[in-house]
Amino acid sequence: MKNLMFATLGVFIAVQVQATPLPAPKVQKINDRVYALLGPRGMPNKQNQGYMVNSTVIIGDKGVILVDTGFNDEIGKHLAKAVAKLTSKPVTHIINTHHHGDHTLGNIAFKGAEIISTQQCKALVEKTGYEYINIVQNLTGQKFPNTKPVPATVTVAQETRTERVIDGVKVVLWAPKGSHTPGDLMVYLPDDKVLIAGDILVNETVPNFQDASVKTWINTLEVIQKIDAKAIVPGHGPLMTKADVAAMHKRMAMLYAGVEAGYKKGLSDAEIRKTLDLSAWKKMSSFDENMGADINRTYLEVESANF
Ligand SMILES: [Zn+2]
Repeated sequence: MKNLMFATLGVFIAVQVQATPLPAPKVQKINDRVYALLGPRGMPNKQNQGYMVNSTVIIGDKGVILVDTGFNDEIGKHLAKAVAKLTSKPVTHIINTHHHGDHTLGNIAFKGAEIISTQQCKALVEKTGYEYINIVQNLTGQKFPNTKPVPATVTVAQETRTERVIDGVKVVLWAPKGSHTPGDLMVYLPDDKVLIAGDILVNETVPNFQDASVKTWINTLEVIQKIDAKAIVPGHGPLMTKADVAAMHKRMAMLYAGVEAGYKKGLSDAEIRKTLDLSAWKKMSSFDENMGADINRTYLEVESANF
């Protein structure tokens, strides 16, 4: 009996030690019904336990619309607790800005919620969801046995703008031509003048081009600057101003132009890298992880455009 008690206590202590609390989001109030939950910066790692994404809370008449849900079920639950500090209303709607695991794998924590994404995003969640679970498990050294990909229940087509009133909130579901990924969706709240951009916009962070159409993305960044927005929530990093969007647009356009110029001189992507002025990018988070791959990806796109 005594042994059993000690054994039980041992298990209890082990569980207690393992459950380090997730870092708290930085809560930024945009207006009485819209709040950004800014996640930690950087790649998933042991410290952040995979929590490194921004989410947005939109409080409707009876429930909450949550944009982007984190990299696993634990982060989803963590976000649900953050929402509960803002309102007693339940999360009834989820919007996923794209299929990447850091934005979608927390969906499972919101049982019964309507989940909205583009058709492409839905298909990519179905196709790549388990790969992203492996990625976050490898990067954090943790297992997330309760995380499963949960694709959208309601979809919109790419290259459309759909206006919907969700729980009393006017929402424009803006699905541009695939930019950061083939299935991007931005959320614009015309009455609040808020744009929630997913990873089409990232602030003080080097964007990830792995699934990108770089040229199209640059065009999308140009269109975004015409939107009447007082608050802009990027997928990662602090809230952005229009000047920040213009700067990101310029950086990406210069990168593309620099790679194209090098390509036309017959340089390899490694040689081109040495010709580029990367000083503005170097100060940002995820530079070491993303910059080389981004140049390579841009090179491949330039190559096929000039073929
Ligand atoms: Zn992301």
